[in-house]
Amino acid sequence: MKRFDYFRAKSWGMGLLALCWASAAIATDALVRVAGDTMGTRFQVSVRNARSTAGQLQAGVQAQLDAVDAAMSTWRADSELSRLNAAVSTDWIPVSPELFTVLQAAAEISAATAGAFDVTLGPVVNLWGFGPRAQPPTPPPPAALDAARARVGYRLLTLATEPPRVRKARADVYVDLSAIAKGHAVDRVAEWLEERGASDYLVEVGGEIRGAGTAADGRAWRIGVAWPARDTDDIERVIPLRDIALATSGDYRHYFDYAGRRYSHEIDPTTGSPITHRLASVTVLHSSCMHADALATGLLVLGPERGPALARRLGLGALFLVRTADGYDAIRTGDFPTALAQHR
Ligand code: AMP
Ligand code: MG
Repeated sequence: MKRFDYFRAKSWGMGLLALCWASAAIATDALVRVAGDTMGTRFQVSVRNARSTAGQLQAGVQAQLDAVDAAMSTWRADSELSRLNAAVSTDWIPVSPELFTVLQAAAEISAATAGAFDVTLGPVVNLWGFGPRAQPPTPPPPAALDAARARVGYRLLTLATEPPRVRKARADVYVDLSAIAKGHAVDRVAEWLEERGASDYLVEVGGEIRGAGTAADGRAWRIGVAWPARDTDDIERVIPLRDIALATSGDYRHYFDYAGRRYSHEIDPTTGSPITHRLASVTVLHSSCMHADALATGLLVLGPERGPALARRLGLGALFLVRTADGYDAIRTGDFPTALAQHR
């Protein structure tokens, strides 16, 4: 008898469904599963042959995620990142090794994506109403947008080590880590699990996923990637996930409608406005979920031609879904797996 255990990583019409596919044998092959809320979204963790109880796992995972939130949330005035943003200064500011690691990866991926991924875009993101303060769902006035854009540019942040520190080229530079912090949180939980001897697990935070080892019976964990189809419900294409992370960015995940147009939360730094091209989503495979998360955002912003071209140059396994007149085209790069099966 087969048992399907779905957890819906994204509840939007099109998105990603994480799917633990276990056989009846799992009853003896103990799978501990914990879930909860973090960073304004949900998390789920499954561990096979865990050396801890569900209660210990729940508390431990939650503590790891709370620590990431306390360091990197712009929704919390007391986070380390909010204090960095509030510092009106062009002096060196000491930062924790963890925040430094994420800022350094962000800088790397900004350079790799020609600035399409840019964590200093925060003031623009906030003006469009996708930040921590509620804004009317309308396009911002051009003068306000110009003022915000003057504060943006990944080169406005300089990083140095020993001790880890950051310097802003303008005192009003403001950093938003929403496009990379969830992936980092997945990595942190995965590393915490490994330190505790776990070798077979699946970690998911708000749709970003990392899997190690195998599900029951030595088979790879299986992830259902929702594949939009015309005139039908989403069809899932099931792909195997072994010792790798996967992250998805989509223009449909947060948006508002105004005067007959849809405005996505994915912002193009070259225009200061939401993306308008036909690329609907990008899913990236990488050994680091933090890198997968940031790359997915950057590749989505780059669009249906430059995104896949860069993924090929970087040798990345990625899946691009491009809107067409009557549905979607899928572009697969690198070793992004072909689907194993379809489910409705
Ligand atoms: P993700 O879902 O990982 O693609 O992250 C999207 C979020 O990152 C948005 O809600 C914004 O807060 C922020 N963001 C939007 N555009 C960009 C961009 N071009 N570079 C970095 N962060 C962005
Ligand atoms: Mg991202």
